[in-house]
Amino acid sequence: EENSSLVDELSAWDKKHFLHPTSPIQQQQDLGPAFIFTEGKGVYLHDLLGKKVIDGMSSLWNVNIGHGREELGLIASDQMTKLAFTSNFATFSNEPAIRLAKKLSDISPGNLQATFFTSGGSEANDTAYKLARHYWMLKGQNNRKKIISRTKSYHGVAIGSTSATGLKPFRDFTNSLAPDFLHVDNFSSQALRDLIEKEGPETIAAFIAEPVQGAGGVHIAPENYFKEVKEICEEYGVLFITDEVITGFGRTGKYFGIEHYGVTPDLMCFAKGVTSGYAQLGGVMLSSDIYQAFTEMSKGTLLHGYTYSGHPVACAVALKNIEIIESEHLIANANQLGNELLKGLQNVQNKCGIVGEVRGLGLMGAVEIVKNKSSQERYTNPVAPLIVSAAAKNGLICRSVVFDGQDTLVFAPPLSINKEELYSLVQILTESILSIE
Ligand code: PLP
Repeated sequence: EENSSLVDELSAWDKKHFLHPTSPIQQQQDLGPAFIFTEGKGVYLHDLLGKKVIDGMSSLWNVNIGHGREELGLIASDQMTKLAFTSNFATFSNEPAIRLAKKLSDISPGNLQATFFTSGGSEANDTAYKLARHYWMLKGQNNRKKIISRTKSYHGVAIGSTSATGLKPFRDFTNSLAPDFLHVDNFSSQALRDLIEKEGPETIAAFIAEPVQGAGGVHIAPENYFKEVKEICEEYGVLFITDEVITGFGRTGKYFGIEHYGVTPDLMCFAKGVTSGYAQLGGVMLSSDIYQAFTEMSKGTLLHGYTYSGHPVACAVALKNIEIIESEHLIANANQLGNELLKGLQNVQNKCGIVGEVRGLGLMGAVEIVKNKSSQERYTNPVAPLIVSAAAKNGLICRSVVFDGQDTLVFAPPLSINKEELYSLVQILTESILSIE
């Protein structure tokens, strides 16, 4: 209570001066911030009023090692004190960036060899599209410029990554997007083949997909989807890009999500879990073939680079984060506790009258809300957002997905979660759904 006048003051400034990312503006103006977070420890977040909640989303699917890890603060402080920043343009370099690029080549699938660093996932995606197109230019196939993505995909908010994003509301937010982006039915490899045939394979640069779709509602591809898709890409000479921004760094119970499907990408985008959110970092990895084309065929300058590409502090933080993921066996934990999460969600399904399908892979999970379990009929007005509010009051942060007529709750707790914490997540969820139905 001693903080309540501070909360009032900050709430007023929040409404007046802070334009929130991806936010319901009217609701934010009416209600102000739901939480002003001040501290985190493990899977828990604390706010200015002293409320404690489980971070059932790892914030934005990214705080993989959990909150409040002092080691990351120390490493950032060391690096910042020694050398906070230097250019990596041209032939300048720095030790954390070099070591991280080497480490990524060791842990990534297939023959991914070299990394181009960005500050986040949207930039990683835009970089992937530009590098894929430039690769085809180097190969003398200037017409290969179209990028194909899936209808329920989310790839970020730069102009390129918004254009690739399949979820229509994100594209409709602005009224002129990049040309040469095409969308294809979410789960059908045949639809991809048909689209490539229709457009002409010689016009297609790349196909991009999330191994498990996150923001679109935690959708897991049918069993043979990625094998078929990869074969189709090879058949038509189309580059295959995986967007591992959410699924990378252990989220699905393997290092990278695509490893569940026994295929390897030509390019791979990552961000989020690479630093567990302790610093801003993303990137694109290139296969040895593509990297070789760049290093051997490029005559001029690679005219694509962000000021913060290969930021020493972000890279040092990433290295320490990866060290923790490995030394604390967090990927094995995600795999094991992922099974518990799915079982837990199945229990919720049994106990609650309005829960339809549940799904999950590793520590990504989803619960469909339905009006009628047997017909799977949905409510006219989505109910998941009400459950999210109830859960927040009861001590659990989760997210609703209502795109495409969905009425879905999604979960992605830190990979460091233990059984007890997982049970209390499931318990609070059950209570919150029962309080609404
Ligand atoms: N790709 C995927 C699969 C994502 O989930 C996101 C963010 O949620 C992005 C790209 C964009 O990343 P960022 O928000 O770091 O720009």
